[in-house]
Amino acid sequence: MKSEIENLKSKIALPVMEHFYTLQGEGYHQGKAAYFIRLGGCDVGCVWCDVKDSWDAEKHQKYEVGSLISEVRKTPSEIVVITGGEPLMHNLDELTSALQSAGFKTNIETSGAHPLSGTWDWICLSPKKFKAPLPDIIPLAHELKIVVFNKSDFDWAEKYAALVSPQCKLYLQPEWDNAAQMTPIIIDYIKANPKWELSLQIHKYIHVP
Ligand code: SF4
Repeated sequence: MKSEIENLKSKIALPVMEHFYTLQGEGYHQGKAAYFIRLGGCDVGCVWCDVKDSWDAEKHQKYEVGSLISEVRKTPSEIVVITGGEPLMHNLDELTSALQSAGFKTNIETSGAHPLSGTWDWICLSPKKFKAPLPDIIPLAHELKIVVFNKSDFDWAEKYAALVSPQCKLYLQPEWDNAAQMTPIIIDYIKANPKWELSLQIHKYIHVP
């Protein structure tokens, strides 16, 4: 029998590029099982973006909240990661409230370039130079993850490290296509600035989505 949550009549339907159960490959929760919901739509325009197919929200099938929760419930996942695209292009109040009511932890990965909506157990803020984050989300971040494409990204990283809360975890992550060149430079940077930790996209090394 369907639960009350699965039967709820959503006011909105969200464009979903893909959804899948896997291991979180990045940042603080790296290595943990998590259900990913990748929402369509992004206007940030990172030149090195590895999910450009996500940019056009119109290209992706819309899902009501109840049907998304039904999909997550087919797995034993305890964590649901909402990513994109830029997930905050959508109002996520209904989705996160329903997920939390169903017992899931709600994690988001966002550039912060759009107003924060939703209720979150974990906010991973990954600010992008191409469209800077709005100020309100910065002190709320549990994790700051800077994608390092070249050395100038260290200045960008330090700018936001100075703005997040003292408890916020700090990660530097090499941009995948540039990782061979940048990872040794990031390692040296972290050794000189040990408040930072290294984040690797381990899902790409272990070949899971
Ligand atoms: S914010 Fe994310 S999805 Fe959007 S362009 Fe940048 S890397 Fe791609």
